[in-house]
Amino acid sequence: MLTSLSIDQLRQITHGEVLGKNRTPQISQISIDSRQIIHPDQTLFVALRGAKADGAEFIPELMEQGIRMFLVHQDWKKVNVFQDQATFILVPDTRKALQQIASYQRGQFSKPVVGITGSNGKTIVKEWLGQVLGQSFTVAKSPKSYNSQVGVPLSIFGIQPYHQVAILEAGISRSGEMKSLESMIKPELGIFTTIGSAHEEGFSGLKDKIQEKLQLFQDTKLLIYCQDMVEIAKEIEASFPKDRLVAWSVSPGSDFTVSHKIIESKTRLFLVAHDLRAYTFLVPFTDKASVENVTHVIVAALTLGQDMPDIQEGLDHLKPIDMRLTLKPGINDSLIIDDTYNNDLAGLKVAMEFLSQQRPKRSKILILSDLLQQGLPEKIYSEVAELVKSYGIDQLIGVGQDIKRLEHFFPGKTHIYPSTEAFLQQLDPESFQNDLILITGARSFAFEKIVNRLQQRIHGTTLEINLNALTHNFNFYKRQIKPGTKVMVMVKAFAYGGGAAEIANHLQTLGADYLAVAFSDEGVALRKQGIRLPIMVLNPVEESFDLLREYNLEPVVFSPEFFKKLGLFARHHAIQIPIHLDLDTGMHRLGFEPKHLTELKKLISAYPELKIASLYTHLVGADEEVHHDFSIQQLDQFMEMKSQVEAVLVYKPLIHALNSAGIVRYPDYQMDMVRLGIGLYGVEVTGKYDASLKPVSTLKTTISQVKELPAGATVGYSRKGVLAQGGKIATLAIGYADGYDRRFSQGIGYVIIQGKKAPVIGNVCMDMVMVDVTPLPDVKAGEEAIIYGEQISLKELADRIGTIPYELLTNISTRVKRVYYLD
Ligand SMILES: *Cc1c(COP(=O)(O)O)cnc(C)c1O
Repeated sequence: MLTSLSIDQLRQITHGEVLGKNRTPQISQISIDSRQIIHPDQTLFVALRGAKADGAEFIPELMEQGIRMFLVHQDWKKVNVFQDQATFILVPDTRKALQQIASYQRGQFSKPVVGITGSNGKTIVKEWLGQVLGQSFTVAKSPKSYNSQVGVPLSIFGIQPYHQVAILEAGISRSGEMKSLESMIKPELGIFTTIGSAHEEGFSGLKDKIQEKLQLFQDTKLLIYCQDMVEIAKEIEASFPKDRLVAWSVSPGSDFTVSHKIIESKTRLFLVAHDLRAYTFLVPFTDKASVENVTHVIVAALTLGQDMPDIQEGLDHLKPIDMRLTLKPGINDSLIIDDTYNNDLAGLKVAMEFLSQQRPKRSKILILSDLLQQGLPEKIYSEVAELVKSYGIDQLIGVGQDIKRLEHFFPGKTHIYPSTEAFLQQLDPESFQNDLILITGARSFAFEKIVNRLQQRIHGTTLEINLNALTHNFNFYKRQIKPGTKVMVMVKAFAYGGGAAEIANHLQTLGADYLAVAFSDEGVALRKQGIRLPIMVLNPVEESFDLLREYNLEPVVFSPEFFKKLGLFARHHAIQIPIHLDLDTGMHRLGFEPKHLTELKKLISAYPELKIASLYTHLVGADEEVHHDFSIQQLDQFMEMKSQVEAVLVYKPLIHALNSAGIVRYPDYQMDMVRLGIGLYGVEVTGKYDASLKPVSTLKTTISQVKELPAGATVGYSRKGVLAQGGKIATLAIGYADGYDRRFSQGIGYVIIQGKKAPVIGNVCMDMVMVDVTPLPDVKAGEEAIIYGEQISLKELADRIGTIPYELLTNISTRVKRVYYLD
C-alpha cells in the first residue's frame, strides 16, 4: 500500500465505530481472504459478505493466525465475544468501506493513473500498455482481470510509493456500478476500448451501456477512443468537450490518423498526429483485434510522452497472448499451474493464491523467472521471499540473473539457473512425482518450454474448464436461494464430465455445503484427492459398506431391505452412519414409496445407528412447464411424506427437493438445501435464465492433416462423404471414442475453425473426424478446432442429434485432457 494507516484514520475514512481493545498499530496490509495473510500484525481483515459466505466466519481462525484488526458489518453478533482480544471497526457495509479505503489510498498517489474500460480488450490493452510503458517507467497495474467492485480496491492496494504510473481496469456488469469504480480509480488518462453490440443482462441498451461505462471518465483530463467505432464516438463526442478527447481513426481529421500495412507476419502502423508529426511502428501480429488494441496502447504511450524508440522496444516483445492461469495434469500425477505470462509481483500473488487453493500434493514447487518489473530489486525480491515463505513453497527453482538475490533466503531448497535453456538441459522430469508445480515467468523467458516438458501429453483434444465461469454460475444459483439454504452440488459422473477432483476442490473453496456422487467409488476417489466436504452417495451397494465407513461417505437409503442391511452393518461395527432417505414421489427410480412409510418409521426407531442426515425427493419434470402440475403434486406429496418421517425423529434432518431447474422454477420449495447439477456447468435447462449463466467448458481439438480433394472424391468409411465439386477437408484428432457422437456424421454436426463453421463430412470415425474447410483459404495442420464452447452451445449441439446437454457433457472420454483456468 502507499501509506500505512492507523485505526483512527481508518475510522475516519470509513465513518465506522471502533470497538474492542484499542491498540495503536499501523496497518500496511488489507486482506479479504483468510488464506492470504502475510504480516498478521500489520493486517486489517475486511469481512465481506458474498454469495458464498460471510468473511466474518473466519475471524476465530484469523485470530489464531495473529490478526487483531477487523472491519465487520455493524450487525455482526459475535463482536462481543471477541472484543476483548482485538479491535473491530463496525460499518454498515464492509464492501463500501473497502472502497472508501481504496479511494483514500488512490488519493495518496500523485503520479498518472490510466483507467481502461470497454466490453472487450481491456485486459489485453492493460497488459500491453504495462509492458510498453515498462520500458521507461515503473508501472503498477491490476493483476489479471481484477476489475470489479472488489478487484479494483485490491489492485489499488498493490500500488507502491515507487511506482511512476498505474494502469487500472474497470469492468461492470450492470447499470449503476461504474460510479463506485470511478470514485476509486479517478483516472487522469482514459481508454475506451470497444463496445459489444450484444444485449447484455443488466443494461437496457447499447446507449445505456456506453453511457454507464463513460462515467469512469467524468473527471479525466484526456480520453482515448477510436473514432471509427461509431456508437462510442457519438456518445463520447456528445458528452465531453473536444479538448479533453484524443481520437484516432483510419480516416483523416482526428488527433491521430492511422494507416497500416501488413508485411509478412507483422503490421506496420503509421500515425500522423494533428500537428503533422509522424510515427512509425512495427507490431508482431496482423489480426484486426490485436491491431486495434495495440493502436490504443501506442496512442496512450505517445500521449504520456514516451519516446518512439522506447515504445518500439516494448512492442517488439508483445504477443497475442494467453494470459490465463491454467491448471493442467502433469507427469507422474503432478499438477501444473501454467502462468507463463506473468511479469510482476501482483500477478505472482494471484498465482500463489491459486496454488494454495489446490488439493494437497507431495510438495509445492515454484519455478520462477526474474520479474521484469522496474523498481527496487531488493524490495521486490524480499517481497517474493515473503510470499514463498507464507505460501509454504517447499522448493524454489529460479531462472535469471536478478533472482539470484533470492538464493540466500532459502539455503538448500533453492536452485538458480542463469537461463531457461540451462534449466532445461539438466531437467529430469522424473524427479517430479505427485507435486504441485507453479510455473510462472515473464514472456521473454519462454517458460512454455518447461510446461511442455512437464505436462502430461495425452492427445490433441482438451476440455477446458473456465473456473471463473463456474464461480459465476455457482453465485447465480446462490443468489436465487435464501441465505440459510444449503447447496449440495452434484459431481456425479466425473462432475458432469468436467473432472470431479478439480471441480470438487473449487467448490470447496467457493463454500458449497455438500457434494453428491452416484457410486461409492466416485466418493472414494474424491476423498483420496483430499476433498473434505460431506459426500452423499446416490446408489451405494452392499459390497461397498466398508468403503463408506472407511472414507466417511453418506449413503442414500431407498428401500426397507437396504435400511436393514446397513443398520445391521452399523450395529455390527458399533458405529453411527449418517444416511439420506430418498422418497419416491413420482420418479419411480429408487426410493421409499408411501406404502413403505409405516415400515420405514419402525426401522428408524429400531436402528438408531443410522442417523437420518436428510430427506429428499427428486422432480421428474422441473425443466418443463408442461409438467408443472405434476411437479407441484410431487412437492405436495413430499411435504406430506417427510412430515410423517419427521414425526418419529427427535432431531431435524435436512429437507430438500430441487435440482437446477427446480431452483429457478420453484423458489418456494428450497427448504433446507437444494441440489445443483447441470446449471453449475452453464446449461440453464428451463431456458428462462440462459443469459445469466456462462458456458464453463470448451472442447477443443487440433487439425492433424489438411487435404485437397478432386471433384467426386469420397471421404471416410462407407463413402458417405462426397465432395461433388472437389474441395478441402481437415482431419481432426477426435472421434466417437473421445465422446464426439457418431450421430454428428454427414453434415449433422459442425465445428468452428478460424471462427467459421466447418461441417462434418462423412462418418465420424473412432478417433478422428473429417470436416469440410473448402471455404477457408489458409487452414493448416496444427490449428485448433472448437467442438463446443462460446460459439457453439451445448444445447444447440444436443438438439441436432436429438439428445440433451447432459449426455454430451458426460460422454467425453477420460482420455481427453482436462485443463482448468482462471481468466
Ligand atoms: C443428478 C441429480 C440432480 C441434479 O440434477 P440437474 O438437473 O443436473 O440439476 C439432483 N438430484 C438428484 C437426485 C440427481 O440424481
